[in-house]
Amino acid sequence: MIIDAHGHIGSYVKFYPVRVRTVRETIERMDRADVGAMVVSHLESIAYDPVEGNRRLKDDIEKYPGRFIPFFNVHPRYEEQAAAEIKKCAGDWGWRGLKLHPQFQMYKANCQAVKRIIEQAAKYDCVVLYHSGDSFVGSLCSPVLIADVAKEFPETTVIMGQMGVSDWPEAIEVAKVHKNIILDTTSCIINYGVVEYAVKYLGKERLVWGSDFPLYPFKLGISKIKDCEIDDESKEFILGKNIKDIMGQC
Ligand SMILES: [Zn+2]
Repeated sequence: MIIDAHGHIGSYVKFYPVRVRTVRETIERMDRADVGAMVVSHLESIAYDPVEGNRRLKDDIEKYPGRFIPFFNVHPRYEEQAAAEIKKCAGDWGWRGLKLHPQFQMYKANCQAVKRIIEQAAKYDCVVLYHSGDSFVGSLCSPVLIADVAKEFPETTVIMGQMGVSDWPEAIEVAKVHKNIILDTTSCIINYGVVEYAVKYLGKERLVWGSDFPLYPFKLGISKIKDCEIDDESKEFILGKNIKDIMGQC
């Protein structure tokens, strides 16, 4: 089964209005692209209000059991609120994913507050999915800053979304050192040969694919893996098995 390791539901205003905004339309598009399940966070939680976004996500995914793996979002600048959200989303609702977006929420990926938040989320065995960036766009969440967090929490799986964008060589380097880092090919421009190189250097277990839906279509993300020159087993791992195993172990 194809499992998308990085998608969203909802609307968003930063660059352009998105075409698909509802969970029903999201499911329709997943079916068309043969995506069985998807890791999701709500765009509302990242772009505006974490508490409201997490609540909307709960409402949405409950209509489609088995199709979504929910990741909640918190903002480290509102630490008390963040602590309450972790308790609610991970403790009461049983969600096992924390999505962090330092670029939009304007904090440094390895600030002390975010480390305290991860420490708390780790008590519930949460996987941490970071949006990452490069020196051009998103230096607040560069691979090196995320690696600093991964080093401090070696028992926590840290998924590096966008795998550093154009700083992908650095992403691969830090993932080599910190075995708890998983690279995620979501919405980054994959130069010819990058996936091949990452699989060779790190192993097929260390990559997952993501769409960044609804910002990008599913098939674009899938083709980055399907059309690259790695063996079929590696493709199977990256397209679904790896994220299934990671979330299953939580
Ligand atoms: Zn994202």
